[in-house]
Amino acid sequence: MPTGFYHDERCMWHSGGEHVLYLPLQPWLQPLASGGYAESPETKRRLRNLVEVSGLLDHLAPRSAPAATRADLESIHPAAYLDRFKALSDQRGGDMGEEATFSHGGYEIAALSAGLAKAALSDTWHRRVDNAYALSRPPGHHCLPDRGMGFCLLANIPVALEALRAEAGPLRAAIIDWDVHHGNGTEAIYYDRADTLTISLHQERCYPSDTGAADALGKGAGLGFNLNVPLLPGGGHRAYLDAMELLVLPALHDFRPEIIIIACGLDANAMDPLARMQAHAGTYREMTRMLMEVAATHAQGRLVAVHEGGYSEAQVPFCGLAVIETLAGQRTKVIDPFQTLIEAGQPAEDFVAFQRARLSAQNRKPKTFPFDGV
Ligand code: ZN
Repeated sequence: MPTGFYHDERCMWHSGGEHVLYLPLQPWLQPLASGGYAESPETKRRLRNLVEVSGLLDHLAPRSAPAATRADLESIHPAAYLDRFKALSDQRGGDMGEEATFSHGGYEIAALSAGLAKAALSDTWHRRVDNAYALSRPPGHHCLPDRGMGFCLLANIPVALEALRAEAGPLRAAIIDWDVHHGNGTEAIYYDRADTLTISLHQERCYPSDTGAADALGKGAGLGFNLNVPLLPGGGHRAYLDAMELLVLPALHDFRPEIIIIACGLDANAMDPLARMQAHAGTYREMTRMLMEVAATHAQGRLVAVHEGGYSEAQVPFCGLAVIETLAGQRTKVIDPFQTLIEAGQPAEDFVAFQRARLSAQNRKPKTFPFDGV
């Protein structure tokens, strides 16, 4: 079976309006010639195009999907939130919270974005594809049930996961969020649940600045089922692989997920304008390989990546291609032309050792918690 590749050009037609990166126009801030909105369709469109021109698309099962239904969305979002979003979308657009702007028709595009994730999960669960990549846009991992945040308007992965549970019954799912920003929305939605292990690797206190601490372990029935791995700014390839080996993989092996979902932000690369980490395409390739091994051990290979952030139009396509190549077991002739420069910028060994010691000292579960799964 091939790897499923879920995309739809209509997702690229979402517009957050004129910005300079994430800031609305304001005094002293000259508009950018390119339109300026950091969550640009070009970043994702260039990834899709590289998948095509590299020849990788020939090895994938490319498809679109129906939009998530109102019932799907209501599994996560209150009706009042959806009603307000739809009403603004039918007019000229608006802002659903904090840096969560959209234009006319944004509701339908966001529901389609969640629908791509829903189809990717369902097809992977039912073995219609080997594994999957959903090029969802707008992203979802900052979105709270009743408030949009950080370019995110609907909680794509939770909407997709709850739709899968409605269809397939109870199941243990792990969500690994390697977007460089904290996956606060996903964390909040599953914070008191034991059937969903949420893990976020992120640049410490980048965005949101007040969430993502290592001691946020979940609450109630969910205590021990949330793992934050805040990484120091400047960390690179080694910091991410150390975090995977020391914290993420042990947590996954303890939890024994039946499906693994990657919140696949590609903004930890060294070229990203909204963060200060130094990962490269090879980092994403290796992390994907590690999760495929865990998925093969516990989840019959069921692994789905859902696109989140990533704001370097130049570099995101190479990072995304590395993830999709790995999922598909293919290696195209594409070589990341930025690799040499980024490797030259990796932090010195004493920084790497300091970060590793910090990771080794982090408790990933409550002291009294047996953590033997659910
Ligand atoms: Zn991000």
